[in-house]
Amino acid sequence: MMITLKEAAEKIKAANKILITAHVLPDGDAIGSTLAAMQILRNIGKTAQIFIDDTVRKNLHVLPHFEEIRRPVDGEKFDADLLLILDTSPERIGNVRKLTDAPILNIDHHVTNSGKDYDLYLEHEAAATCEIVFKLAKELNAEITSDIATCLYTGIATDTGFFQFSNTTAQTLHTAAELIDCGVKPNFISEELEKRSAAEVQGMKIALNSLKFFYDGKVAGMFIDLETMKTFVDSTEGFIDLIRVIDGVDVAFLISEKAEKFCRVSMRSKGVDVSKIANSLGGGGHIRAAGCTLYTTLEDAEKILIEAIGKAL
Ligand code: 5GP
Ligand code: MN
Repeated sequence: MMITLKEAAEKIKAANKILITAHVLPDGDAIGSTLAAMQILRNIGKTAQIFIDDTVRKNLHVLPHFEEIRRPVDGEKFDADLLLILDTSPERIGNVRKLTDAPILNIDHHVTNSGKDYDLYLEHEAAATCEIVFKLAKELNAEITSDIATCLYTGIATDTGFFQFSNTTAQTLHTAAELIDCGVKPNFISEELEKRSAAEVQGMKIALNSLKFFYDGKVAGMFIDLETMKTFVDSTEGFIDLIRVIDGVDVAFLISEKAEKFCRVSMRSKGVDVSKIANSLGGGGHIRAAGCTLYTTLEDAEKILIEAIGKAL
């Protein structure tokens, strides 16, 4: 069920012990929004703990309180009276779902989130979930410390490609400016997030070598096989930006084979609604940035994806 920000704040006020989570394959917005929410809730007197059912890209480990994030272990239970899910619908939180039966409060900015069977505050015009958490903090009269601001700024910066993508609005920049007033050092965050190991740049080289064009150059794709993933790549975040920029390309994609018959797909677009393509393949996301998982070989994943993109063009 869709609820308002005020109602979301009321649900938080009424709770005492809050379990916070975000999506598997967490990005800057998932980690930034959960870390910020944890600190905000603690500062208004709540007990709050983050669980994320995945490993997190090394660059994000520098964020304040990162070391407090836990990963659920088999059979574990967590005593909570509210499950706060950020930056995704409840289907993408892995085994965190098994930790508690507490009612769900979902806060998200993905158009593909339906809000069916759970309370959802959705703001699809928000560039990042962190932008919404900032508003939530104000609704809760919580102070934005410099640590909280750092986490929120990180999510906004990463989800907007550092204020370059079409989701960047005046509101986004006003929020970023306020966060800088609260103590964020933008250059620190940029420098930490752009760091890559030498091996990973080698991985990028291999990925670029696999570049292929489809549909008269309107679509460009890269492919990373399992061997390359294992040897070189900690995270593929940012790889797709290498080809998203090609003149004439509307849809860019990256398929990375993360395990046997487990291919992750990332898509970026300049026009076509890739969230619809991702949705048709069991995934989701935004109009210009979306993804899905294809449980098949790299070869078949390519065929399936090219066909789906072809239908959308
Ligand atoms: P990325 O390509 O950076 O992994 O994802 C782009 C956007 O699509 C992100 O907002 C991400 O949360 C969303 N997304 C990626 N993969 C999936 C998926 O499998 N399911 C859903 N619902 N959203 C996804
Ligand atoms: Mn996000």
